[in-house]
Amino acid sequence: MSSGTKKTIAIKLKPAAERKVKQGHPWVFDQSIVKQNSEGEAGDLAIVFDQKKNKFLACGLYDPDSPIRIKLLQFHQSAKIDGDWFQNKIFEAFEIRKPLLSSLTNSYRLIYGENDHFPGLIADVYAKVLVVKLYSAIWFPYLEQIVDQLLTVSQCDICVLRLNRALEKDSNTQYKNGSVIRGHLAQPEILFREGKVKFLANVIHGHKTGFFLDHRHNRIKIGAMARGKNVLDVFSYAGGFSVHALVGGARSVASVDISAKALAVAEKNASLNKIDGRHICIANDAFQVLEEMVQHGEQFDLIVIDPPSFAKQATEVPRALKQYERLAILGAKLTAPKGILFLASCSSRVTAEQFFESTLEALNNVPYFFTTLEKTFHDVDHPIEFPEGAYLKGIYLQRK
Ligand code: SAH
Repeated sequence: MSSGTKKTIAIKLKPAAERKVKQGHPWVFDQSIVKQNSEGEAGDLAIVFDQKKNKFLACGLYDPDSPIRIKLLQFHQSAKIDGDWFQNKIFEAFEIRKPLLSSLTNSYRLIYGENDHFPGLIADVYAKVLVVKLYSAIWFPYLEQIVDQLLTVSQCDICVLRLNRALEKDSNTQYKNGSVIRGHLAQPEILFREGKVKFLANVIHGHKTGFFLDHRHNRIKIGAMARGKNVLDVFSYAGGFSVHALVGGARSVASVDISAKALAVAEKNASLNKIDGRHICIANDAFQVLEEMVQHGEQFDLIVIDPPSFAKQATEVPRALKQYERLAILGAKLTAPKGILFLASCSSRVTAEQFFESTLEALNNVPYFFTTLEKTFHDVDHPIEFPEGAYLKGIYLQRK
């Protein structure tokens, strides 16, 4: 590992930030640094010492380009951050995912950033293709070795590198977004399995790493409930829920998304599988489509509403909650007697409590009675190690 060539910086923090570090929180903001013995470059090792006793508190990687100036890796006890350290963390992460791999599924998140001790690094596996997405330049000095370690553990032969927008514009790196850094990629669409269902992930051009793996457990659940049902999948993207419902024996599925391109992928994903039900795609604004369906008195046995994030900042939370309430009311009006309504939120700024409370409150505006069947959170390949890591929540409701 090249950590020998990277500089080490000693850091001291304001008391409040120090307390957070002692609790194991992985972020140190620039504002909370009170002492720093030298300037640093992306990926330099930063060691945080106790203000009073000068004792080791934590160490991590220095990020001069981000307000989250240090991404912490190791807490309480000092350790050498080298190839062995990364290898151990990769093994630990793989261990957690093992139960998933004993099923038909061959797609999973191997590394979920901070939650797996790799802040700002995501690694998703689609069959034999590993997609590493970076959100911070701190990883560039260590990337080659980490990629090889990830390939060995996951038994993948190909690695695609994806960079976030800021890194794509970073002139200090030779790495390019969407480049194939190991093996040969014959085409950008990779066929993978999620339970009984086949999907394609476009690992070069698709959102994030090519697919949204986070809803796997919910999609499998929806598939298992779908036999003979009339299903509505709102904000369907590439048909994650829709195709599970079709494979599960749905009589018909309507996929709604504003993106005609996403719906074309949903059609393609459906065609990879053996299905008997009818699949229709509606490319339009979901709110408008749902309003029109309500006006026409349409009803469905099973409804999924999984919108994009509505709140990326704290100030957007009140508006986001209003949008969730609106979707809950529209979805409830469209639910047939005994039908099931699944509502989800991926807004990290909206807490699970806020989402469930406003959703259940909104249902008082509908003349039907709903019972809560289940609330769900992250699947096993998205472990949560700090509060900001949690974003996904969903609620299954049944109309009486
Ligand atoms: N449910 C999907 C993921 C949804 S991602 C899955 O399981 O994979 C959010 C989707 O919402 C994107 O495909 C985006 O095109 C779509 N979208 C965003 N705004 C929309 C709107 N106003 N109406 C309909 N679709 C919208």
